[in-house]
Amino acid sequence: MKRLISTWEDKGMEGIGIDPEDAIQVLSMPDEWIFHLFGATWRITRKWKQGQIRLCSIVNAKSGLCTEDCSFCSQSRRSKAEIDVYPMLEPDEIYRRALKAKGAGAKEFSVVTSGKGLKGKNEFNKVKKAVEMIKETGLQSCVSIGIVDYESLSILKSAGLGKFHHNLETSRSYFPNVCTTHDYDEDIRVVKDAKRAGLSVCCGGIFGIGESPEHRVELAFELKGLDVDSIPINFLNPIKGTPLEEKNHLTPIECLKIIAMMRLTNPTKDIIICGGREVNLRDMQSLIFPAGANGLMLGNYLTTKGRPPEEDIKMINDLSLRWN
Ligand code: SF4
Repeated sequence: MKRLISTWEDKGMEGIGIDPEDAIQVLSMPDEWIFHLFGATWRITRKWKQGQIRLCSIVNAKSGLCTEDCSFCSQSRRSKAEIDVYPMLEPDEIYRRALKAKGAGAKEFSVVTSGKGLKGKNEFNKVKKAVEMIKETGLQSCVSIGIVDYESLSILKSAGLGKFHHNLETSRSYFPNVCTTHDYDEDIRVVKDAKRAGLSVCCGGIFGIGESPEHRVELAFELKGLDVDSIPINFLNPIKGTPLEEKNHLTPIECLKIIAMMRLTNPTKDIIICGGREVNLRDMQSLIFPAGANGLMLGNYLTTKGRPPEEDIKMINDLSLRWN
């Protein structure tokens, strides 16, 4: 095991990354080797990210009533979860939330809307205006607005948009178990268009939704093939009223192995830990950094609460990592 981890480290330090067979071994390795693995993933992350932690925050700018049927999501048409439902927020309100996120320590701020895509010119114009206003705050702006065309992406880029977020959620082969209302290829197309429009692309998925280790590895290599800039990792927080409400949490060590596998397959990319980290990692949240993460989502998620941002800042400071 020691020799194997050392070869994985070499591939990470070179920026090449491990093979799918190695990635499966990372996920199935004996737990007692995990701190040895962290030595390798920590050094790889330091080499490519220099101890700098990226902090982003989001606003749920349009909540609920989605036409899609994603099994994990409290906003989907299959969900009976009790969540706030509201139409698109006004740009002024989004700006106010961005300022609040900046005050809490975030460096990036994303406008997230429910639905397969935006509805009509009015919603698009509000997002565009919000992007212009976020730019004024000095934060990097990001949007997660579902499936959009290349022209809209180019317009948003001209308005000052820095980053486009769009998750694949899971592997191509597991996706039909998660969502039946749109095709995986539609998600791939928008990710490629965002790159073509010159935007930085943030694209990842959610784990703990019933997928196998092979599906996890398949997603990691799909993202590698797309050459996305940033990989957000979410862990399922089973919400009452959703089809996955009965699912158990992942164990903290499973989560950490997923992060390590993602770092070892995509050594030079940003790996950002987002929704579900509190409930799945519990007391082990600080270990996401030795495991290979170099970023966090601060504050609340779409329909669930995160922990207070000052606790995350304290955790990062205590590890002598930099965030500002
Ligand atoms: S993940 Fe997005 S597209 Fe899927 S149901 Fe939720 S809001 Fe709709």
